[in-house]
Amino acid sequence: MAEARPAVADGNQKLFPCEVCGRCFAADVLERHGPICKKLFNKKRKPFDSLKQRLQGTDIPTVSQPPQPKGQPMRKSNWRQQHEDFINTIRSAKQCTLAIKEGRPLPPPPPPTINPDYIQCPYCMRRFNETAAQRHINFCKTQSSRCVFDPAQTAARLASRAQGKAQATPKKQ
Ligand SMILES: [Zn+2]
Ligand SMILES: [Zn+2]
Repeated sequence: MAEARPAVADGNQKLFPCEVCGRCFAADVLERHGPICKKLFNKKRKPFDSLKQRLQGTDIPTVSQPPQPKGQPMRKSNWRQQHEDFINTIRSAKQCTLAIKEGRPLPPPPPPTINPDYIQCPYCMRRFNETAAQRHINFCKTQSSRCVFDPAQTAARLASRAQGKAQATPKKQ
């Protein structure tokens, strides 16, 4: 006699809720799903769409599973998110440094995973909200390109400053 299989085949596989859509996934699936879901959510997140989205959201198939105690699984998925974000930050920082050194165009900033509203500056790795980020990244770009790509100019400026000082201070004899 064949029994109906439960939705979760592995009894010992733990499911974690997605922070964005609330659906539950196995840890490795959530790892892939999370960033995609947030990106989608970010795109859709316009004031007039939210109600429509909520109405449409009712027919999204969900994994049937018994209700979980709140708190613990969320904290676990947060830890995963933060860890992922940390790795992303380091990785992109390395790529940025490399790109600056070799004079290549900078890689795109990593998708923000902790707060989808915040955008990370690819130059200084700080996070800003959308409006501030656009202004800041432009500013930071000029700043960093000025510092990194003109070592000769910086040296010249330092030299001339040193000369000026030497001329300005009369020698006492
Ligand atoms: Zn999701
Ligand atoms: Zn910056």
